[in-house]
Amino acid sequence: MNFSAHNLTLTPNRIFCIGKNYSKHIKELGGTQAPTEPVVFMKTACNIVAPGETLHRPSYGNELHHEVEVVLLIGKEGKNILKADALSYISAITLGLDLTLRDIQKKLKKAGLPWELSKSFEQSAPLGIFKNYFPNKIDLKNLPFSCSVNGSLRQKGNTREMIFPIENLIQTLSCWWTLRPGDIIFTGTPAGVASLQSGDKIEVESPSIGLFSWTLA
Ligand code: MG
Repeated sequence: MNFSAHNLTLTPNRIFCIGKNYSKHIKELGGTQAPTEPVVFMKTACNIVAPGETLHRPSYGNELHHEVEVVLLIGKEGKNILKADALSYISAITLGLDLTLRDIQKKLKKAGLPWELSKSFEQSAPLGIFKNYFPNKIDLKNLPFSCSVNGSLRQKGNTREMIFPIENLIQTLSCWWTLRPGDIIFTGTPAGVASLQSGDKIEVESPSIGLFSWTLA
């Protein structure tokens, strides 16, 4: 699977995911404190699921949660990127689902173990179609987005509610890793995460990005 953005063909590289980036979501999971620096974990490019494909629940977890997120596609290489330049590294944007096995994640957190089984399972990264990003056309500081299940609104967010705004995320990630073309960043989920049941139709939408949907088998 490759992505087209502007005049580039980009092969998906790493998928960086930001956790705990919206206060109300931290609270709904029982957290009390906002992180002092971005919380990062990863999925792999083979976890990506194109819009319209059927999702299958992993066999070992029960609580499969939807987490709608704004997703960025990096278009050029950068290390120690300045906040003022950060947006110029984004080639395209879309919406995605950071699917999470919440019961497994709770067990792993309690035991102090890594999150992969709860976050990086097969098909854990449904991803919409990337739309070319133009800084003067889309305001990433004020971008509304939502997630509905079977037509009922479950999550409603806006990037202005982020604890670490998108420029800060790019700046910080690029201090820790050299960002490369094809890197993907899931920027965190707002409140309203909940369990999915077999047969559910999940829709993610933003007026300036589009609407994408998946059905759970
Ligand atoms: Mg998430």
